[in-house]
Amino acid sequence: MSWDLFEKVLADSRHWEGLVYRLYLLNEPLTDPMLTKRIAVVKVRQPKAAVELHSNASLLNEDLAERLVGSGLDTIRFSVDGFAQGTLRRARGLRKRTVYPNILRFAQLNRRAGSPVKVVVRMIRQLARDSDELAEYREFWERRVDEVVFTDLYSCPPHRLAEPVLAPCPKPQHEMFVRADGSVILCCWDWLGVSCVGNAREYSLEVLWHRLFPCRQRLRAGNRTSMQPCSACHAYAGVAGQTSES
Ligand code: SF4
Repeated sequence: MSWDLFEKVLADSRHWEGLVYRLYLLNEPLTDPMLTKRIAVVKVRQPKAAVELHSNASLLNEDLAERLVGSGLDTIRFSVDGFAQGTLRRARGLRKRTVYPNILRFAQLNRRAGSPVKVVVRMIRQLARDSDELAEYREFWERRVDEVVFTDLYSCPPHRLAEPVLAPCPKPQHEMFVRADGSVILCCWDWLGVSCVGNAREYSLEVLWHRLFPCRQRLRAGNRTSMQPCSACHAYAGVAGQTSES
């Protein structure tokens, strides 16, 4: 995202309380040469806001680790989808001998600096070879980071479901997604941008948030039929319904 658009997004959201800025969307955030500068600027402009990252850690060299530890970042979640090298390679094309040491070094630097960055590792459980790999993963990481999380693999476009899931979705009720070009979409699962309601370069975030109201309303009622990308998504299939705008 260009710097002027980033500034616009920050300015548009300055009156919203309790924000968490996630400085990535469909990209690996460590490819962003302005990442630590963005974190610092968020913290200066919005001292009460939190900043979070999700990364696969493949680019987390020592220099970047040191800069992130001192940046004001609140939470970093590492997407590490395997304990076995074969699983990691199948899931994300990554090497264990790169990713694991990068995360361990970050966790050590963070601890040594007394930094408050919360370090989480997260694995999509369906990608594991078997239950032994899940146990090995947990046993290895729970002594080395702040939290170990297992999540589920969801279906999303371009995959199709035989029938849309009839369940409410909480994801867009309190989250807003701005792509690098400024287009605002309903959900981070919308790879193709089919749910775009306008561009943050032209409209305020408040206007765009209100444009998404009909989608949020349908999703609160559990109606994903004929709605892209939601009709192809089975995330939150077990969520209980809500009935009014919050
Ligand atoms: S139903 Fe799926 S695609 Fe739609 S908003 Fe929820 S998580 Fe995103």
